[in-house]
Amino acid sequence: MTFPGTVTTLLGLTEPQMMKFVRAQRWPDYRAQQILRWIHQRRLRTITDMTDLPMRDRVTLSQSATIGRSAHTTILSSQDGTRKLLVTLNDGLMIEAVLIPDDERLTLCVSTQVGCLLDCGFCLTGRMGLKRNLKLHEIIDQILTAQDLLSSDEHMTNLVFMGMGEPLANLDSLKAAVTALTNKPWGLGWSGRRVTVSTAGLASRLPEVAALGVNLAISLNATTEEQRRELMPAAGEIASLRSLLAACRRYPLASHRRLTFEYVLLAGVNDHADDARRLVQLLRGMRCKVNLIPFNEFPGSPFQRPSEQEVLRFQSILREAGLDTFVRKSRGQDVLGACGQLGELPGNRPPYLDTY
Ligand code: SAH
Repeated sequence: MTFPGTVTTLLGLTEPQMMKFVRAQRWPDYRAQQILRWIHQRRLRTITDMTDLPMRDRVTLSQSATIGRSAHTTILSSQDGTRKLLVTLNDGLMIEAVLIPDDERLTLCVSTQVGCLLDCGFCLTGRMGLKRNLKLHEIIDQILTAQDLLSSDEHMTNLVFMGMGEPLANLDSLKAAVTALTNKPWGLGWSGRRVTVSTAGLASRLPEVAALGVNLAISLNATTEEQRRELMPAAGEIASLRSLLAACRRYPLASHRRLTFEYVLLAGVNDHADDARRLVQLLRGMRCKVNLIPFNEFPGSPFQRPSEQEVLRFQSILREAGLDTFVRKSRGQDVLGACGQLGELPGNRPPYLDTY
């Protein structure tokens, strides 16, 4: 972390690690929070601009550390106001984050991996395979970079870990990122109520999400063991539908909170009335809501999006059975910024409109 001759990435340090770093320099303890505030709250990009540190310390720091912000971000702006951020990491790999305005909300969708270790057949990211996990500073950088982009009358209201990757497969970085996001003295001061972690169903790790105080969304997408394994082979291998639902029932939900179940609707595959009725049975008695996501197509995708009428029919079966059910609007489709559309399309990227 702070070995002589190595460069420390400041945004990649947790608070205890920052404290260790500061002590290794023989600086007073309060310097840890000073530095954390500069890089998280004030989004500083240049170490020598830390004006409440003595110039001598700033010089020392800039010789032994970097802040860890990404070098380059390209913005794709959709006609519907959605902005997709294509972030180039320091090793040249690219990830995506998406800013989605909707009425009074402005939601940021953040990635946790480059690619994904799962292979869900309906998701473009799955086709890339897993390149690597994102580090803490790379997750935080997406949030800071999105914040840098906003005009003075905009502010982010919600943050969802639903971008590229499986958040629960990168749990250490996820936990550290949520800690920085929700820390008030030096971090971004978000309430956990406005943060949602979405998982394809790593059942044994759900309790670790509960401890973070954020919301949990589970991508269910199928109502039989067989179909789930067909649509989400790797996720199905990790946990059966039955064990996943059992873990959801055991989940220590805080009062006034509920689980979210996501269900991608694939025309003629999992959108029948029988599927809806089975879903009702599976979720019976759980404090939850359902988000239906009509399939977002991408070049070469093997599925089709159901008609609006079919989506509404599916929704009405759930609603009539007493399940709070919402249909997720598809946003940013023209820039491939909607659910399941994040990822590499070699040679097939839309022209970028703006560079930041
Ligand atoms: N790995 C995590 C988070 C990323 S996917 C998870 O599975 O939850 C975020 C959501 O998008 C999931 O609910 C997933 O089922 C959904 N999704 C993936 N591909 C999609 C597509 N092509 N159309 C609509 N939704 C999709």
